[in-house]
Formats: sequence, C-alpha cells, structure tokens
Amino acid sequence: MSALPTQPPAGQAFYAPEIQTLAEEPLRALQEERLAGQIRRIFQLPIPLFRRHLEAAGIKDPRDFKGLADLARIPALRKSDLRASEAAVAPFGDYRGSTPESWVRIGQTTGSSGRPTLIVWTRQDLAVDYQAASRARWRWGLRPGMVFAQAHPHGLYAGGWHMSHGVEAMGCLDIPSGPPTTEAHRRRVVQLWQRLQPDMYRLFGNAGVKYYETALEMGIDPARELRFQQAGGSHPSSQFDAVSAGLEALGMLGSACSEKNGAHLCEDLAIVEVVDRRTGRPVGHNERGNLIVTILEKDNFHIRYDLEDLVRLNLEPCPCGETHRRMFYDGRVSDAVPVAPDGPEGRRVEMLPIDAALLLHDFPELAMPSVEYQLVRRPEPRAFLELRVEGPAAAGATSDALVVAISARARAQFGIPVRVELLPRGGLPRFDYKAARVIDEAG
Ligand SMILES: [Zn+2]
Repeated sequence: MSALPTQPPAGQAFYAPEIQTLAEEPLRALQEERLAGQIRRIFQLPIPLFRRHLEAAGIKDPRDFKGLADLARIPALRKSDLRASEAAVAPFGDYRGSTPESWVRIGQTTGSSGRPTLIVWTRQDLAVDYQAASRARWRWGLRPGMVFAQAHPHGLYAGGWHMSHGVEAMGCLDIPSGPPTTEAHRRRVVQLWQRLQPDMYRLFGNAGVKYYETALEMGIDPARELRFQQAGGSHPSSQFDAVSAGLEALGMLGSACSEKNGAHLCEDLAIVEVVDRRTGRPVGHNERGNLIVTILEKDNFHIRYDLEDLVRLNLEPCPCGETHRRMFYDGRVSDAVPVAPDGPEGRRVEMLPIDAALLLHDFPELAMPSVEYQLVRRPEPRAFLELRVEGPAAAGATSDALVVAISARARAQFGIPVRVELLPRGGLPRFDYKAARVIDEAG
C-alpha cells in the first residue's frame, strides 16, 4: 500500500475540481466552519497575540464570534506586530498556532521592511502550501511525470525548499538549479538542462536572462536545444500570473488560468479581503486596496493579516469554470507614489511601478531589450508624476516627440500630468532580483 497522495489524471482540467468549482454558497459555508475552528484554537491553545486582537473587538469567547461578518471587526495585524511579538517573547513570539515539537521547517521573511520574522511549518502547514501551489502550477500546465527546472535559492530562503518539495509532491522531476552565480555553475546547469530537456522552466528575476545568455555563449540554441523560450524581459502583465500572501501566510495564494484575467484564489484555504487602508472598508470590483488574509487549515495561521500589498479583485465569474474569485497583484504600499493634481475635482491618485511599466511597454522604442524606469517620490506630493525613462540615445526632435507622446498617453490613462525625463540606455541602476523602481528625493 502506498502512503503517497494520489495525483489527478493529467487530462483533468483542475488539480482539485470538487473544491475549485464549488458554488459560492457552500464555499462561504466552508470558510465559516473553518474560521470558527481557528477562532476556537485562539482561545484554547491559546494564541495570546491573536486573542488580544479578538478581545479588542469585544470577542472574549469563541461564542462571541457569530460568523464571517464578524471578521471585519477584528483589528488587522501587520508585519510590525509580528516583529514586536518576537522581540517581546523571543525568539518565536506569542502568535504560533502549534507547539515546537510539531514543527518541521523554519524560514524567515526577506527583511526588506526591517528585521526578518521567523516562519515555522508543521507537516500540515506544508501540506496546505503544497496543495495551493499544486493548483497554481496545474493551471500553468505542469503535470505529474514532467521535468521541471527552477532557479530558486535554497538555504535560508524557504521559497526554494517549498518549490522543490511542492513539485516533487506533485510527482514531477525537480531540477533545483539554483541562482546563476558563477560562470562555472551557469555552464554546469545549462549542460544538465541539455541532457534532461525540461518540460517547464520557472526562472524568476534576472535568472532566466543570465542562463539564456550563458547558453548562447556556449553556442547552444536555448529554444531548440534546451526547450527554453524565456529570453529577456517579460511583459509587465506577467506579474498578474500569480498572487502571494507571503511565505508566512500562504506562499501561493492564487494563479491565473488561461483567461489571463486575474489569479484564482484558494478561498477554501484563505479568507481574502481587499480594503481601503484609510477607511478600512472593503473596496469594489477592480478597485485597488490592501490585501488582508485569514488563513484556514494551517496550524500556524494568521488572522486578518495585512500584507501591505495593493491588489484588485475581479468579481466577475470566470468562463474557465473555477468559482474562486480572481485577483491582480499591483504592488507594495511602500511603493505607492502619491500625485495631487490641481484640477477642480482635486482628485489625489497613487501611482505604482506597474502603472508606469504597462504604460511604457506600449512604446516599442522603450521596450527593447527591457523597459527601465524610475518613479520619483517627494516628501510633499507634486501635481504631476515624475518619471525617468531610459530611451533612444538621440536627443532632439525624436526624443521630444517621445516625451510628448508618453505624457499624452499617461494623461489619457490615469488622468494626471506626467513629467518625463528621458535618459540614455544604462542611465538607471540595474537589479539582480527585485528592482527598486521608486526613488525618494528631497524637494
Ligand atoms: Zn478562470
């Protein structure tokens, strides 16, 4: 008898069809039932940090919690709350939903907003993460038996381990190639790919470009000899192919189906809210707001965790047949650049790097080999967006016309004036992994 989970037949449209096509009403009922279980755990274990948040909302006992509608009463938690909890009750804080003897993996957040927080997983937590990731990769065409090449770092970054163990759990052959570090390493990886002929590649950031260039240097045609199509910068809309709730909550919250109109969420594993961060109220269809998740089914979970990410929900039914709602990941709150137009309506808008990327990508002279740009943010918002863009070297009439065209397009799309500064190629900094597109300047 096998102890392994059975995998769905390769021809099946969805990884978990019963749950992914569940109608709205039973899906909400399932969320409610699972949420009630998490609320009970908060009081019974107890989980002191979460318990304090519930009590702040007047929920002093599991019986005070009446259902999904009560969730919004609970004050949201942020990364800074987790960090403070870990400092006060070192090293793990007082927000864990299980005891250390059941933990099997540790990770930490990237620490881009301060000291990294610790993440722990039980075997159940890993199973939930792999379930969510398997649904996502199934939508992208990954099937048991396929050969899968990836370049995630392993070591302290748990995302690499998650990806490896997740695709192995799906029954795929994982090639953990690692990031493109030294030239010797890159060449070894390219040779391995040539021998194994991967069916699918997932290479993030600059890794794909570097491996592609290495193959060319070795006289190897990536498309023909490696089945590797990824060359150069991808279209900015590829950022909508997936949405994450962070490794600390649910690494793969959703992925886009073939409709490419938002990433289907795992609503049986997470209750997802999108709220205006100034009012705390839910926003509507396609409106930008903060992503707040409550994780179900995990031992180590979160309740109303505000990722400080800006997202939009697509509330329309999807023709593919999946019932879980879809979401677009737009960017980080910390990357929002406020613009305060002088117009009679006095409308203040926020711009994100993705807005500029989508706008600029429509200009072929800027898009090749990649769109390089920077949004400038000032302590006092200006009445226009300041945008620096790398473009054709020629100064004079051509670039003047280009600046005018970009400005006109921006005004039409976003309703705000834009001041464009055209720089020669190489005029802006390059980044290996995540690009910093917003620069804070005085004045
Ligand atoms: Zn769909």
